[in-house]
Amino acid sequence: MARHALPRGLPVIFTNPAGAPELACDECGCRWFDRMANRCYECGAEVSPEAQAEFRQALEKLKRTQAAEG
Ligand SMILES: [Zn+2]
Repeated sequence: MARHALPRGLPVIFTNPAGAPELACDECGCRWFDRMANRCYECGAEVSPEAQAEFRQALEKLKRTQAAEG
């Protein structure tokens, strides 16, 4: 199995124009995920638990930011 040397703080979380976090695929870099299956629409790669956790953290952070602003 090929090991990808991923940097710390995976660059898989993007923010869309609405300010909401979006996950990007580690494999193909696209941002289309099937949230029900936790798989990339494009290449079928599974979303790693790390990426899911990061994504959730980003969502929580956004919620807290919005709560603080509102
Ligand atoms: Zn993909």
